[in-house]
Amino acid sequence: MQYCTRCLYPANHPYGMFFDDDGVCSGCRVDEERKNIDWTERFEALKELVAKYRSKDGSNYDCVIGASGGKDSQYIVHVAKNLLGLNPLVVTYNHQFNTAAGIRNLQRMVKEFDVDHLRFTQKPSVVRRMARAAMTMMGDFCWHCHAGITTYTIQIAVKFKIPLVLFGESGLQDMVGMFSREDMMEWTKKVRNEHGLRGFSWKDFVGFEGLTERDLLPYVYPDDAELEAVGVRGLYLSNFISWSGKRNAEFLIEKHGFETRRPSLSHNCYSNVECWHCSGAHDYLKFLKFGFGRATDHAVADIRAGRISREQGLELVRRYDGKRPGDLDVILEFLGMTEAEFVACVDDMRDPDVWERDGQGLWVQRDSVLNHASGPAVEKARLPLANAREAAYRDNQSDEPETGHVFM
Ligand SMILES: [Zn+2]
Repeated sequence: MQYCTRCLYPANHPYGMFFDDDGVCSGCRVDEERKNIDWTERFEALKELVAKYRSKDGSNYDCVIGASGGKDSQYIVHVAKNLLGLNPLVVTYNHQFNTAAGIRNLQRMVKEFDVDHLRFTQKPSVVRRMARAAMTMMGDFCWHCHAGITTYTIQIAVKFKIPLVLFGESGLQDMVGMFSREDMMEWTKKVRNEHGLRGFSWKDFVGFEGLTERDLLPYVYPDDAELEAVGVRGLYLSNFISWSGKRNAEFLIEKHGFETRRPSLSHNCYSNVECWHCSGAHDYLKFLKFGFGRATDHAVADIRAGRISREQGLELVRRYDGKRPGDLDVILEFLGMTEAEFVACVDDMRDPDVWERDGQGLWVQRDSVLNHASGPAVEKARLPLANAREAAYRDNQSDEPETGHVFM
């Protein structure tokens, strides 16, 4: 397997990436573009762009924002409300894997930013059956979450006739560099289908686990005529603002009381605070398929930002990726599966360049970034301020018990 010589990403990243002659990945190259962009000019362009969508007579909202209550969506709300002076309608698809800290952050967001907020909660029995079906179909129990967020936000935009929808950053750009920041990528149905939904549709679920069309209504995306009638347009703020998850989190912690939480399988305490299984069982499945987990994602972001060296990133990967996640028993109980059944769901999805069976039929990892430690070190020391803040994140942890989901 080829691994980036600058960050830690492998050639088999599920979003797709390529490498240049120096062995540096497309994600790292696109990340470099930040330095050469005039962000003041970009932000002025954003102000001009959103002015066209502002409700002239105040008879409607100015934009829709899909918010989980995590750091990125809260920061979008901050930009919309406080920097652009918009009146957003904030909407949440309740994925039902909520942590207590996540629920509190969401409640605090509505109050701190003083916004109108809609939250949709589906029948829990349907979510459970969808999660079981998705494990068999794609080895990921979170499809309802990926699909629910992207569908509900746009459904509301269409129903309320609000054309402008604001997003933070796209993983396709941020992680793997599929699009340059010069491309000014926007939200499309294609991005949703291929990236958000892994190529699956709600129709693929009909008949699995007794699921009916009626059960799957929350995942029915508006058709082209409906989208065109409203003129729905989705902008990524990361094309207009130099987006940094860490900086966004620091701002929210200091100004708005954002709570952090120690995840099971990463050093990063400010990402995915709202979900039990990101940086846990969800990314454990990614490790079983592709040989890397969420600690790699978080370390890559830290390496690219110059906060840690590649060697320090490797240490984090060694420490977290592939370990048995602390939330695994919670999701096994929810799914009604044994650990053996859960792991077996991805048997035929394991990348043969990374995984092979030994003489006894047990899976062993053939290759890992840990075998590719020879990349050049990033010659930047850890920033002292970042260190101090990281210590603060670690002290600011949720004391919730590690059992069960908080549904509502
Ligand atoms: Zn890279």
